[in-house]
Amino acid sequence: MQIRLGQGYDVHRFAAESDAAASVMLGGIAVAHTHRLLAHSDGDVLVHALCDALLGALALGDIGKHFPDTDPRYRGISSLLLLQEVCSKVAAAGWQLGNADMTVVAQAPRLAPHIDAMRQSLAQACATHVDNISIKATTTEGLGFAGRKEGIACYATVLLIRSA
Ligand code: MG
Repeated sequence: MQIRLGQGYDVHRFAAESDAAASVMLGGIAVAHTHRLLAHSDGDVLVHALCDALLGALALGDIGKHFPDTDPRYRGISSLLLLQEVCSKVAAAGWQLGNADMTVVAQAPRLAPHIDAMRQSLAQACATHVDNISIKATTTEGLGFAGRKEGIACYATVLLIRSA
């Protein structure tokens, strides 16, 4: 069996001002929060880290190379669309997702109630079974930028398997 590993990491910063109507987009799910994330796209760090892991597994560069934030076509775009395009590249190169494992690092908002919806959302975008998508969330016990609620980070690891 031929396999390839990929890892991805992404960070987005919270806006300085709070906003009563704010939410953060994570794994394609809008989670209510006191601050929104600043980004050219929808700021979905979970999807961005996963895209980078998938591209990294095939040594195809990173999300910024394929979807430059200087390109107005990607302003405010749903990151799930970018993920679908990345998955198309993976399939076109002759590979399929074995599994993906992600860790979101956020002091707030609380993500546990949303994890299963995020897994379903990513599984659908990647056209894979939800059992192949793992998402965990952790705080940093108040330490560092995530602990100070200045932003959210995400790590992603993927395994690709050669298609028949
Ligand atoms: Mg990003």
